[in-house]
Amino acid sequence: MDSLDQQKYNEFRKKRVKLLKRLIILVIGFFVVMPNIMCIILFAKLNKTNKTLENIYSKISILENIKTEQMANLNADADTDDASSLTKDVVLKVQTDAEEYAGYKRIYLTFDDGPSNNTNAILDVLDEYNAKATFFVIAKNGYEEEYNRIINDGHTLGLHSYSHVYKDVYSDEMGFKNDVNRIYDFVENVTGVTPKFYRFPGGSSNTIYKSDKNELFDYLDEMNLTYVDWNVASNDSTYGGLSANQIANNVLNGVEGLDDCVILMHDANDKSSTVEALRIIISSLQCEDNVIFLPITDNTIRVKHISK
Ligand SMILES: [Zn+2]
Repeated sequence: MDSLDQQKYNEFRKKRVKLLKRLIILVIGFFVVMPNIMCIILFAKLNKTNKTLENIYSKISILENIKTEQMANLNADADTDDASSLTKDVVLKVQTDAEEYAGYKRIYLTFDDGPSNNTNAILDVLDEYNAKATFFVIAKNGYEEEYNRIINDGHTLGLHSYSHVYKDVYSDEMGFKNDVNRIYDFVENVTGVTPKFYRFPGGSSNTIYKSDKNELFDYLDEMNLTYVDWNVASNDSTYGGLSANQIANNVLNGVEGLDDCVILMHDANDKSSTVEALRIIISSLQCEDNVIFLPITDNTIRVKHISK
């Protein structure tokens, strides 16, 4: 190799080394700068995600507040013991019978003065037609099964005084209170169920009790007992007795034009015509469209002859 070649070779080598150095600097530069750029991009993205999450958390918190408020409203409404005060947007709203069975004729068969030797026959007819009813009972020993069957069959068991002897029940305010307490305890002991409904012997409009009836209404309130009268009379207690057809006609005529029909009937030993009439009444009314037989409950419209 002569000196010229040697010089060219050296220059070529120098250029290669220079190129190689630049390349190394570029590679190093790339690996140093790129992670920083990536970090900046990731940081920006993280920031954005954080903001989105904060937004979601604040929305969840608003929803939780609304839910808590609704639950508080629901509890407050339930405490008022007034189903109609529950607002419609609360899911657990209690419907009245009129709302639940809107468009139906709502029939509330009620039987006073039982139990008797006819109680099981009445219950059999109700069972046969899948109709529910309400029994306002007095105290009678030896009928424990009947009191309990009324409840077990899905009917309402209400109170109708302990003795049904007017001169005791309506002797004075104290006499009335004692009588209510006695039948209340009697029914609770026999059935284990706390009574909620009461029917005055002779109805709330009876003229036997001469003093201020507000005292009696107040006492029933204190006992958490709601009294219920009737707006259809079967007249099955008419002196001398009516035939099954006559009783049924009284009821079928009486329910005409009414949406809520609280029918007064009797459950007594000498009233087997009532049992026969019951079959005619239910089968006739069930032939019509949209008729339903219901027990009296907290959701039932209150039929009262007189009130405070
Ligand atoms: Zn009675």
